[in-house]
Amino acid sequence: IISVSLGTCVNNNFEEIKKFSSDITKEMLDKGIGKTFKVETKRANKNFCMDSQEINRKLGEYLLSLFPILKVDVINPSFTIYVEVREFTYIYTDIVKAYGGLPVGSSGKATLLLSGGIDSPVAGWMTAKRGAKLDAVHFYSYPYTSERSKEKVIELTKILSLYCQNINLYIVPFTNAQLEIKEKCPIDLMTIIMRRLMMKISVKIAEINDSMALITGESLGQVASQTMQSLAVINAAVNFLILRPLIGMDKNEVINIAREIGTYETSILPYDDCCTLFVAKHPETKPKLEHVLISESVLNEDKLINESISSMEIINF
Ligand code: ATP
Ligand code: MG
Repeated sequence: IISVSLGTCVNNNFEEIKKFSSDITKEMLDKGIGKTFKVETKRANKNFCMDSQEINRKLGEYLLSLFPILKVDVINPSFTIYVEVREFTYIYTDIVKAYGGLPVGSSGKATLLLSGGIDSPVAGWMTAKRGAKLDAVHFYSYPYTSERSKEKVIELTKILSLYCQNINLYIVPFTNAQLEIKEKCPIDLMTIIMRRLMMKISVKIAEINDSMALITGESLGQVASQTMQSLAVINAAVNFLILRPLIGMDKNEVINIAREIGTYETSILPYDDCCTLFVAKHPETKPKLEHVLISESVLNEDKLINESISSMEIINF
């Protein structure tokens, strides 16, 4: 949907078009919208007896003769009478812009990795705009992250569901995984190893809910875990399509969209995300896959994955 207009539908008959246009013009004058106007016609139906220029001119003349107070201003009118001639004729004065894109669900389903930050809700919204139906997964590390950080993600999912409808939010306990990684793995690889584990768990969830892809809010070079080398190592954790719609965006571009879709104010609430726990002072920015594989091989990975999946909470919005 590119735009929405509330209008009147009449038969393709110039007398009817005149009558309803004059009703609308009177309404606009009564409301005090202003005294300058123009007529803008689109004629999709080429069988109609007049072309769009002729309709503009004749309808304009008619309205001027009916309301002598009116003036034509084609550059900056105080109101416009839009006339669209199709199988019927639609007459309206307002155009409310919509976001365009494709109907939600027409491109299949994807699972969004939703933190509490600014980026991931925008990444989800952008993919939904291109027709994806969304589910979301959030990893949380209670009691290291608070109940309020969970509520924040619930609130973000609610906002996204206004656009996408019917989102399942999977809330996955991640405390044990993080503690085990902290205990057994090198601190400078901690975020990368944690992110790889998130990917593995998310793919399991995607398989449960029939998603064809994961979505993240990663943007190239934004932080240590989003260098090209880090993204490659994170990517290699799973054999699954990962969509990163923000990859080429600057933070201010993401913030503009977050403000537009209404997630920004919630995203900036100052509650910890599990990714901000136990972060290294100097995280590795150029990790080597062989090195990461050896470092994470000491983890009880299957157990951590199964525990997380079996104790996750699912909320439907
Ligand atoms: P965001 O603003 O989305 O938090 P960020 O710039 O803070 O992004 P990171 O914290 O490095 O980036 O996270 C990168 C991506 O990893 C996020 O955009 C999100 O898709 C995913 N992610 C991070 N933390 C979590 C989490 N706790 N639960 C689910 N996904 C997460
Ligand atoms: Mg984050």
